[in-house]
Amino acid sequence: MSNYLRNRGNDYLLGDFFNDFFVPETPNEKHLMKTDIKENEKNLSSQICDEEIEKIVDVAMSREVNVANVKEIELEEVQESAGKETKESEVTIRGKVEKQEFRNLTYIYSDSFSNTDDFSNTKDENIFAISPNDFSANEIMKLYKTVKSIHPDSFVALDLPIIANGADLELLQNSLADLKEKAIKFDFVVSNNLYGLQFANYGYKIIAGFGHNVYNNLTTLKLKELGVCMVVQSVELEKNLTSVLPVLTMRNFRLPLMTFAHCPYKTVNSNTCKKCSYSNNLTYSKGGKQYLLRRVKLSQCYFTMTN
Ligand SMILES: [Zn+2]
Repeated sequence: MSNYLRNRGNDYLLGDFFNDFFVPETPNEKHLMKTDIKENEKNLSSQICDEEIEKIVDVAMSREVNVANVKEIELEEVQESAGKETKESEVTIRGKVEKQEFRNLTYIYSDSFSNTDDFSNTKDENIFAISPNDFSANEIMKLYKTVKSIHPDSFVALDLPIIANGADLELLQNSLADLKEKAIKFDFVVSNNLYGLQFANYGYKIIAGFGHNVYNNLTTLKLKELGVCMVVQSVELEKNLTSVLPVLTMRNFRLPLMTFAHCPYKTVNSNTCKKCSYSNNLTYSKGGKQYLLRRVKLSQCYFTMTN
């Protein structure tokens, strides 16, 4: 079970969090859970007998969650018997569905405005997530002001980078402080990794974005507890997410296939990222396909490979 969660890419850290709370929802997950338990059976056999293992699987798999037209989800009280001698743990999970006030999260990139008509027609949008190529205050402000010039009453979120080291966090904080002085305050930030959740402590409303790979309601329950107010569901999830938090639909989103923490220009041209020799339109070609490598500038360069 833990391996399965860890293998879900970006969610592996949350996987550690929820290791004890994972409930299978799809047939595939149920199969994997059974497989995992069977695989671990040898190791557990000295502590848990076969009947107890089957009981744990049955209890977990009998939990059905249906949110269609209901305001409140109440998951069954679950008793998990760890079977370790007399130790037992009981987990009760309850959640109330938040009112869905917003529907769409429309992504705006630094090069999205080659044709502003594309955005002037998006009147029904609710939240715009600006995703700059450069997290300096000036670049962020430029995007923010462009969005506001087209949709003055819109809500605007800042899409936080997937990766940020200590120096990047300092840069982010400084940029946001500069912008605040210029009376620019974001309505939301879109968190894409665990560090982003900390922004709740700085007074921001948090949307758990693509990077959190939100796959099931247990994740949304935990994210809610950690201060998140809305989520987008995992791109790996084929059905609609069962969620206690409102779920936003991403629009104009460029799916990152891979993120590089290393700047190739630094190595090839022996420069530093402060004076990076990066030029636009870097692409990677393989098997007849060409992928765009988008540079995101913080204290150093990061690269995101997209379709
Ligand atoms: Zn660089």
